[in-house]
Amino acid sequence: MALSNRIRLTIDRPASMLSMMKWFAKQGVPVFPIHSVADGICSCGDRDCDDQGKHPIGQLAPKGCHSATTDLKVIRKWHRAFPDMNYGVATKGLAVIDCDSREALDDFRRTYKPAPTFTVKTARGFHFYFLGEMPARNGARPNLDVKSGPGCYVVGPGSIHLSGAVYSPWEDEPIAQLSEAIREITAQPKDEAPLASNGPIPVGMRNTTLTKFAGYLRAAGANQRAMLETLKALNRSMTDDPLPDREVRQIARSISKKPGKVWPTLVPFSEIPDENLEWLWYPYVCRGTLGLLDGDPGDGKSQLCAWLCARITRGDALPGGDRSKPANVILFNFEDLKGAVIKPRLIANGADLDRVFIQSRQFQLTEEMVAWLDGEIADKRPAVVILDPIQAFMSGVDGNSNIDVREFMSPLAEIAAKYLCAIICVRHFGKSEQDKACQEKS
Ligand SMILES: [Zn+2]
Repeated sequence: MALSNRIRLTIDRPASMLSMMKWFAKQGVPVFPIHSVADGICSCGDRDCDDQGKHPIGQLAPKGCHSATTDLKVIRKWHRAFPDMNYGVATKGLAVIDCDSREALDDFRRTYKPAPTFTVKTARGFHFYFLGEMPARNGARPNLDVKSGPGCYVVGPGSIHLSGAVYSPWEDEPIAQLSEAIREITAQPKDEAPLASNGPIPVGMRNTTLTKFAGYLRAAGANQRAMLETLKALNRSMTDDPLPDREVRQIARSISKKPGKVWPTLVPFSEIPDENLEWLWYPYVCRGTLGLLDGDPGDGKSQLCAWLCARITRGDALPGGDRSKPANVILFNFEDLKGAVIKPRLIANGADLDRVFIQSRQFQLTEEMVAWLDGEIADKRPAVVILDPIQAFMSGVDGNSNIDVREFMSPLAEIAAKYLCAIICVRHFGKSEQDKACQEKS
């Protein structure tokens, strides 16, 4: 057998590694180059690499383990290009049982009684090689992974682990047939989301899984093209039976219509235009800003809003100010009856009813509805938009979390600035202790 012995491995690693790769290739097991570790740094150059000495060399194997080959000419070429590389053994047609601890090894031997087979000593345990495929699964048993099929690989013997340990042949046996007993390890499907396993995406989950990834990418700021390229790669590498490109394009197109992440940029003050605060009602309500109107229930906040709406629609001067041009107002009120309570209130204050707008039905200020609101404000050009009470628009937002509230408020503040309108959020304090505490803090 062309297997090198362990002594030779320690003397002339590159030569013995090449001979090991050839040994695999000659029996139809494809191999491919993966990064190695020198002085504690992965050869990919990333000091924070979280898969040191174990991930494919992208320039040589762009499709990872799917770039693996049995072509000796290609293997020699790879090895010449990166003599210090490690290599992966693609588990196409193979099953490799990866025992990562002494206990896992004892458990595997005792429970499944493996026939003598080609075995590699790893940094912490052993790789048992078998001919035949079975469902792959990480953590199939404690500290035991099953790598099998075209989508998986193991680090090949002759490679060097991050710790400096050499993956070395331990049992110099031919690769044995996979036994029925060992197949039992992953015979029972595991109740687990398909994303959590390292195996291929099941055929029925391809679209759902890729759509989920597209959503993550979009949220992280990817544009349609970047999403498409990434989805294509995922589609190739994560499934044995990839979706047609047409369907992948469709996913990228539909997800790219969702609002993506807009990164903030840094702007020098020389480019910040001079602005004057335009007070609608000094010093309470300012154009282009978001304001809060706080108070206990029953202390007249809604009355105050009706009074404010009325004066703005007529162009009446507010206390301490001047007359202005009559303007529109949008009054979102989810608490009071439109016809029986709000309208009489507006009439009593003398509002121009053609200039005060109210929602036809209730809604939550989701991302989609903020976009809708933006459109309505662009159309009606109100001087003031009132959200009464703001809590009613915030379902799913933790009102006690500063982060959640800020995230909710910031798109509203942007709209206020964009259209130079004042957005007033009416906040009712509840009677609960928690809300009282909140009130005292603010
Ligand atoms: Zn790396």
